[in-house]
Amino acid sequence: GIGAAGAVTAGCVGMVLVQRRRVLASLPQQIRRAVSLGRLTMAYQPLVRLSDRRMVGVEALARLTDDRGRPIPPDIFIAIAEEKGFIGVVTRKVISLTLTQMRGRLTGDEAFDVHINFAVTDLLDDRLLTYLDGEVSRLGISPARVVIELTERSTAEHDRLREAVETLRRRGYKFFIDDFGTGYSNLAYLARLPINGIKMDKMFTKAIGKAAASSAIVDTICATARSLNVELVAEGVEEPEQAARILELFPRAVGQGWLFGKPVPAEHL
Ligand code: C2E
Ligand code: MG
Ligand code: MG
Ligand code: MG
Repeated sequence: GIGAAGAVTAGCVGMVLVQRRRVLASLPQQIRRAVSLGRLTMAYQPLVRLSDRRMVGVEALARLTDDRGRPIPPDIFIAIAEEKGFIGVVTRKVISLTLTQMRGRLTGDEAFDVHINFAVTDLLDDRLLTYLDGEVSRLGISPARVVIELTERSTAEHDRLREAVETLRRRGYKFFIDDFGTGYSNLAYLARLPINGIKMDKMFTKAIGKAAASSAIVDTICATARSLNVELVAEGVEEPEQAARILELFPRAVGQGWLFGKPVPAEHL
C-alpha cells in the first residue's frame, strides 16, 4: 500500500506542479500588467525600395519587457495576448504610439508609409477601426499612408474577413498579407481579397541561392505578386545577393532586413 514515503513523494510532486503552474500563469499576467502600465514601446524597421535604396516606409514592431526588464519576444507576447483576449488593447497602444511617433514623416511631402500588424480579431473589431480613424484624423494623417498587415495564416477562409478588408480599403487604408508563403491560403480566395501587397516570409529570402526547390518558391511568389498586380516586400534581407535576386525577379520590390537596418526606436531611425 502507500506508506509514509509514498505520501511524501506525492506531496512533493503536488508542490512542484503547483509551483510550475504559478510560474506559467504569471507570464500572461506580467504581459497584461506591462501593457497596462505603459511599458509597451515601439521599434521601427526601414522598408527600402530595392531599385534606388530609398526608405519608403517602416514596419512598426511592438516591444515589451517583463518585470525584471528583460525583453519578451514579440512572437510570444502577441500570441499570449491573442489567446487571452487582450490583443485589442495591445493594438490600440501600437496605433497610438506609432501614429504619434511617425507623424512627422507621415504628414511630410515624401512618400512614406507605416505598416502596422493586426490580429484577425482586430480587423473584425469595429470599435478598433473607429479608434484608428479617430487617431488618423486627429493627427492629420492620410489613411493611404497606413498599411495594415495580416498574416497569411490568419486569412484562412473567414466569412467576415473580406467584408472587413473592404471596409478598411473603403476608408482609404492599405492592406498587405504578411508572412506570405507560410499559410495554406487558397490563391483563388486571396485573389478576391482587395489586397495592396504581399510580404514574402523571410524563410524564402533565406533560401535564395540555397536549395533549388525552396529557391524556386521565391520565383513563384514574385510571379504571384505580378499576376495579382500587387506590391511586394521581401522580409529578412540580410545579404546583397538576396536583394539583387529579388530586384531581378520583381523590379518594384521593397526589401526589409538587416542589410538595410534592424528595428530601432523612432529617434534612431
Ligand atoms: P513580422 O510582422 O513578420 O515582422 C518581421 C519580423 O522579422 C520582426 O521580428 C523583425 O525584427 C524580423 N526581421 C526583420 N529583418 C530581419 C532579418 O534580416 N533577419 C531576421 N532573422 N529577422 C528579421 P519581431 O520584431 O521579433 O516580430 C515578430 C513577429 O511578432 C512579427 O513578425 C509579428 O507577427 C509580431 N508582431 C510584432 N509586433 C506586433 C504588433 O504590434 N502587433 C501584432 N499583432 N503583431 C506583432
Ligand atoms: Mg508584419
Ligand atoms: Mg512578416
Ligand atoms: Mg515574419
